[in-house]
Amino acid sequence: MRKKIVAGNWKMNLDYQSGLSLFSEIINMAKDEVIGNQELVVCSPFIHLSSLGQLSKNVTNVNIGAQNIHQAESGAYTGEISAVQVKSVGASHVILGHSERRAYFGETDALLAAKVDIALKHGLTPIFCIGETKEERESGDFFEIIKTQLTDGLFHLSNEAFAAVVLAYEPVWAIGTGLTASPEQAQEVHQFIRQVVAEKYGQEIADNTSILYGGSCNPGNAKDLFAQADIDGGLIGGASLKSRDFIDIAKVFN
Ligand code: 13P
Repeated sequence: MRKKIVAGNWKMNLDYQSGLSLFSEIINMAKDEVIGNQELVVCSPFIHLSSLGQLSKNVTNVNIGAQNIHQAESGAYTGEISAVQVKSVGASHVILGHSERRAYFGETDALLAAKVDIALKHGLTPIFCIGETKEERESGDFFEIIKTQLTDGLFHLSNEAFAAVVLAYEPVWAIGTGLTASPEQAQEVHQFIRQVVAEKYGQEIADNTSILYGGSCNPGNAKDLFAQADIDGGLIGGASLKSRDFIDIAKVFN
């Protein structure tokens, strides 16, 4: 059975101390309240990562991740952070392909393919984001757009490498807008994604791939979204900044 995952993306929020306080609350609540096999992942800014790594050392159901890495191994890339560096402080995951990185930092499918490679090389699990904009949804071309994002970002991978990737469908029009995709709209796309993966990698790998939904997910709508056959959890932005909300979303899988 594929893993159920609830991942938080803190984005560029929280100073150092506030991040540590929030994470401490999350791990304490997770210990007491999260009783299923679901995995929690907190993707913080780089500055928090090493401390979160220490705090979560003996916590089995809460992992930590980065929100970006550079595609090179190491070297003269002022201001950048490598896969080896985030791995060395305890990160197990990295978000790649987030629409904010695609839109504001010009990250292309080709660049993302290189980032996926370096992440996997160093044992980081990419949470690879795909999704259409409002215009793309309205034009009706969104299935093609999503297929291209998958093909160009990931389909160079071998079967074994692809099996280590987590996918996240985040319709751009639902991110931070309070406009959630309906469970049916999300399921339709998740099912399509799984089918595209199956055509490339076979049904078994497709069935074992976790596909998370992201976009204005909250404790009120998570239950109906996660009840869909092809939705295996969430990638949570705003609601991951409140320990109660984040844990309540995770508890949908209890
Ligand atoms: P919101 O949950 O704030 O809409 O953000 C979703 C997101 O972008 C997670 O990566």
